Amino acid sequence: MPVDPVCGIEMDESLAVSYEYDGKKYFFCCNGCRRIFKKKPKKWAKKN
Ligand SMILES: [Zn+2]
Repeated sequence: MPVDPVCGIEMDESLAVSYEYDGKKYFFCCNGCRRIFKKKPKKWAKKN
């Protein structure tokens, strides 16, 4: 299951909101978390 990088919640992919950043797709529990991510994607994106 995808994990929301902002709040750390695991959720069903069908219920999640997605956002693509730097060629990688991220999933969020709600639009609020996605908005936070979009503000500072470097802070929240996982380092690979
Ligand atoms: Zn969240």
